[in-house]
Amino acid sequence: MAAEKNIPIRWTDAIDKKSTTLARTRISAEGLAIIEIRGDLREQSLAFLAATIVHESYHAVYSQSCNYSTDRLCLKKYVEEEAAAFALEASVYQATPDRFKNNSDLDKMQQEIVKRWYEKRLNDLVLSISGYQAKVFGEPLAVR
Ligand SMILES: [Zn+2]
Repeated sequence: MAAEKNIPIRWTDAIDKKSTTLARTRISAEGLAIIEIRGDLREQSLAFLAATIVHESYHAVYSQSCNYSTDRLCLKKYVEEEAAAFALEASVYQATPDRFKNNSDLDKMQQEIVKRWYEKRLNDLVLSISGYQAKVFGEPLAVR
């Protein structure tokens, strides 16, 4: 995806609130990246929203476009892309002043992502999230 193009950011009610997906980057019929954020997240902290937008922006610019492929190299790149998006997300969240954060479950999730980033365990994080497991392995892994 060409970085010089505008990347629209839209609130959407099209993402199921029961799913683990909070935001996504989709490619329009014209081939343009569009970032969509679940509409019910409008009231979340600015730190959470900034981190979420930068995560999706990474996908919009660097997407490997091989989601759901079973090619091993493609899957490896996919996990690396997710980990890189989470690293950017973590760096933005931790750099945002505390007054823009809160104690919501989603901010606690951000704090966990920052912790994993410091521990250099973002690949493990990606592989532990059921939504990513479904993309990488076809279905969520059994809970161990
Ligand atoms: Zn992602």
